[in-house]
Amino acid sequence: MMLGDSDRIGASCHYLRLGEWGLLLDAGIDPHQGNSTVPPYEKLKGMPVNAIMISHAHLDHLGSLPVAIRHFPHARVYMTPATAALSEVLLFHYLKVQERRAKLARIQFEPLYTPEELENYLYLFQSFEYNFPFNIHGFQESKIDLTFWDAGHILGSAGIEIKWRGKHIFYTGNTKKSKQFILKGAKYPRRTHILITETTYGSNELAPQLRKQNDINRLAEYVIQKIKYNGAILIPVFALGRTQEIMYLLHRLISQGKVPAVPIYVIGMGIKINKIYDRLLHKIYPDFQPKFFKTITADTLFRKQYRKPSIILATSGMMLPNTLSYEIASDFLSDARNGIAIVGWADPETPGGSVRNMNTEKIKAIFGIETVQCDIKVFYFSAHSHREELLEMIEDIHPHNTVLCHGDSEALRWMKAQVENRQLSSRVIIPKPAEILTF
Ligand SMILES: [Zn+2]
Ligand SMILES: [Zn+2]
Repeated sequence: MMLGDSDRIGASCHYLRLGEWGLLLDAGIDPHQGNSTVPPYEKLKGMPVNAIMISHAHLDHLGSLPVAIRHFPHARVYMTPATAALSEVLLFHYLKVQERRAKLARIQFEPLYTPEELENYLYLFQSFEYNFPFNIHGFQESKIDLTFWDAGHILGSAGIEIKWRGKHIFYTGNTKKSKQFILKGAKYPRRTHILITETTYGSNELAPQLRKQNDINRLAEYVIQKIKYNGAILIPVFALGRTQEIMYLLHRLISQGKVPAVPIYVIGMGIKINKIYDRLLHKIYPDFQPKFFKTITADTLFRKQYRKPSIILATSGMMLPNTLSYEIASDFLSDARNGIAIVGWADPETPGGSVRNMNTEKIKAIFGIETVQCDIKVFYFSAHSHREELLEMIEDIHPHNTVLCHGDSEALRWMKAQVENRQLSSRVIIPKPAEILTF
């Protein structure tokens, strides 16, 4: 049963019933829409929920975990060690975001959970490394075997394999099949009966044709141009994942002499997350030295005091109002010397989405400016598989049943048609909200 959003990218949450046992896969929230997007956990009243599995620490997979634990206090909570470390930071941070939003909207602050509650829940997290099979157990043994697979999306992200009575189920979480700059690409089980897969880039026809190296060269060229005229470049990024990948790329370009050494600013939560990458990245990928990000000189940005030329990595990635990336963008947009580089996905309904689509009229209205002068460029460095990669994955895994999720309706439709036309799976399903599927 899909409890979260079914035809958009919002709260991710699936309920899996295996005989006497019940599992939740992810406990997300749509962080932009807030409390109203908590999955309807009450629908599971009277049903068993023995375990909650978290695929990775982005809020659309994690944000309502404290609410889920309150509903199902006996459930065990499983994730990878890196996801556990990141979840703590993300969940405390999201509490602050909720408070700030309430203050700005002048409404009563009604947090989804309290800091004390969260503090207690953190003790429930049990973590397992990739490729280390474990068993859900309680008073009785469940005979449900679980394995986390590296999903290649962000630090600690996992695809979740569930084996029960000879049946194999695989949930991709968010997945990136090919390498990013830091992460090395996802690994998948060889076969599965039921596949539950994300489809984020299912409607993007451009992505499969793009060559990563071209975009790296384009970015280097763009940075050089802006630096030449003493401009600054804003890169709106998610604090978790995108910040580290782009920071690493810029560091590489600078150390290879392809881009002049200019200050790179990182702000707020991105810094905290860098520290977790520093602590754990080398344990997953031994070719990174411990404290790698500490060796990259990044300046901290205080109250928009930046030098020029420079590069600023600022959250939010979607430039939501009252964030630093929104404020800096408002300053930058009417100055031709500056640039805004978009390096990831942005919901079309957000300011970042309007900038990404270069919708001038919308940009003027949202940011309250007269003209758009600044040089906006989009680069494709995704943390999600593009649609051909998703199809390759499905072909390799060859599932009997494929359940599509985590995509807009166009993405879901395209993927369904392709999986059917290419005969990659006997049955392809786009579930409706709270619809019960039986296999
Ligand atoms: Zn994600
Ligand atoms: Zn997601």
